[in-house]
Amino acid sequence: MTTTMHEKFDVLLDKEGDHECEGLGKDRVCVRVVAMAELPTRFGEFHIVAFENNRDGKEHVAITRGDVIGASNVPVRLHSECLTGDVMGSLRCDCRDQLEAALKKIGRMERGMVLYLRQEGRGIGLINKIRAYSLQDEGLDTVEANLALGFRDDERDYAVAAHMLMSLKIESVQLMTNNPKKINQLMRYGIQVNGRVPHIMEPNEYNRFYLETKVAKSGHMIDFYGKEHLSEQSDLPIVEGMSEAQIEEINE
Ligand SMILES: [Zn+2]
Ligand SMILES: [Zn+2]
Repeated sequence: MTTTMHEKFDVLLDKEGDHECEGLGKDRVCVRVVAMAELPTRFGEFHIVAFENNRDGKEHVAITRGDVIGASNVPVRLHSECLTGDVMGSLRCDCRDQLEAALKKIGRMERGMVLYLRQEGRGIGLINKIRAYSLQDEGLDTVEANLALGFRDDERDYAVAAHMLMSLKIESVQLMTNNPKKINQLMRYGIQVNGRVPHIMEPNEYNRFYLETKVAKSGHMIDFYGKEHLSEQSDLPIVEGMSEAQIEEINE
């Protein structure tokens, strides 16, 4: 498995190392593969593939499991970077729970991948996210706080993700999401999405608010401090134990 992945990557790097194209999306973003290494994790054996892009110098990565280059029907999870949640374990969001759920699940699969997209704070960046948190500390909810900073609800774009999949010559994917809009976005960029795998998290004390409160259609929810809360990832996860009605709302 490992040998195949390394051999295939070397061929890919040889052919695509100086890749350049018109780019995708409104920012005409073009990414190219740069390096790959093995990445043993607490969730299983993975590889990590690093990409550079022609726009913002951000180093996006794919955490891949198994032999994915050129494969079809690859289970894929898109995760937007969240320094405070993913790394520090912040409870202002559930990004870390969502990332762990994805890695755990893919870690048990033959193949799959997480695209780790460097679009912090729904795309507004780390400093602006902290500013928005600060406004929330003063009483504004997430939506109001982002609007007060002059940002739309969601500044994310999946052109980078789509291009990363193309760069790895992925034939088709099964998207791990509860948000059909995300599928449409990827398809618009030319990715063949063959299906959707519901993104399900195990219940724990930190995601209990999903179970206990109403999950609103716009993706807002009430967090355990009683404040309105926007999911920092682009879709709400299903937590084991959610009611049928809650799951239905997420799937709409
Ligand atoms: Zn390109
Ligand atoms: Zn977060």
